[in-house]
Amino acid sequence: SQEVRLAQRPAGRPDDSTWEIATTEVPDPGPGELVVRLELISLDPAMRGWLNDVRSYIPPVGIGEVMRAFAGGTVVASQHEDFAVGDTVTGTFGVREHALSDGRGVTKVDLDVAPLATWLGALGMPGMTAYFGLEDVGRAQPGETVLVSAAAGAVGSVVAQLALAKGCRVIGVAGGPDKVAWLRELGLHEVIDRRDGDLLRQVRRAAPDGVDVYFDNVGGELLDAALANLARGARIAICGAISTYNEERLPEGPRRYMSLLVFRATMQGFLVMDYLDRYPEGVAAISELIREGRLVATETTLDGGVAGFPQALLGLFDGVNTGKLLLAV
Ligand code: NDP
Repeated sequence: SQEVRLAQRPAGRPDDSTWEIATTEVPDPGPGELVVRLELISLDPAMRGWLNDVRSYIPPVGIGEVMRAFAGGTVVASQHEDFAVGDTVTGTFGVREHALSDGRGVTKVDLDVAPLATWLGALGMPGMTAYFGLEDVGRAQPGETVLVSAAAGAVGSVVAQLALAKGCRVIGVAGGPDKVAWLRELGLHEVIDRRDGDLLRQVRRAAPDGVDVYFDNVGGELLDAALANLARGARIAICGAISTYNEERLPEGPRRYMSLLVFRATMQGFLVMDYLDRYPEGVAAISELIREGRLVATETTLDGGVAGFPQALLGLFDGVNTGKLLLAV
């Protein structure tokens, strides 16, 4: 059974020297344990942060340890009373082919509701991030203007569609003409191609009356562009800052934070794991919209198995994905 371990902490962009691909025995479950054959591994921007030896919301992955990852698969052996062979489950199983688990943090998923890929995307952690970030932190109201960055990605594409369903005016930012076209098809009111540059003016053109909610997935220059175009009482939900994750030196800024004063605005960070007890509410809301055909759950699945992980992870930073990026094991 193959697994990917952290060989060395990267400076900047991870490369082959960051990882070691190792082979181990397929584990046997002891009492109270189960073994999962992984089928899909979730690629998450947060993984880059877990490689840094810094104080954070979760300890870093240790050198020599299996890389931490959300994943989904099928139970192939079980001595755990809550899980039977054949169950489809998700959990933090790591980048490996077979995972041994004591069942903690493992969730059974219903394939009649949605395929496994969607349980790792729109109905999984990224979807919950979108839902609670928009509802609780952004507090988006019908008729308001919502700006969302990385809008064609896992979190962003759900944010954009939830905001549309609420009756907001939605502006998305994404990289490249294909993603821009896809977001227009979803019904976004305005779509900005970040590769066209001059983000401040592009946001101003798309939101002449200002932005009420900025759902920030990327940080950097776009955060400044949003700050320069706020409406009074705006809320900025800091979800992530992928534009900085591989930077060895962080950019200066945000330079325009005084807009928070001028427009009586707030900027607040949040972590999806603080909403774990409310996941059922988020799953119910999003699965209802999927059923009604008002929200499209989209995934990009890369081949290559566990050994393809180092390359697949970089796909997030190159923007290869539309919707949730997954690796087929
Ligand atoms: P995505 O599916 O959005 O994939 C990342 C996307 O980011 C890429 O497709 C690319 O899209 C865009 N991107 C990459 N590099 C840059 C760059 N330099 N500048 C601008 N855009 C860039 O990932 P997720 O939906 O999983 O995550 C989105 C954000 O949400 C991340 O910042 C992540 O850390 C955060 N997050 C936070 C959580 C929380 O609890 N707070 C939980 C989950 C995620 P394009 O090329 O189209 O711009």
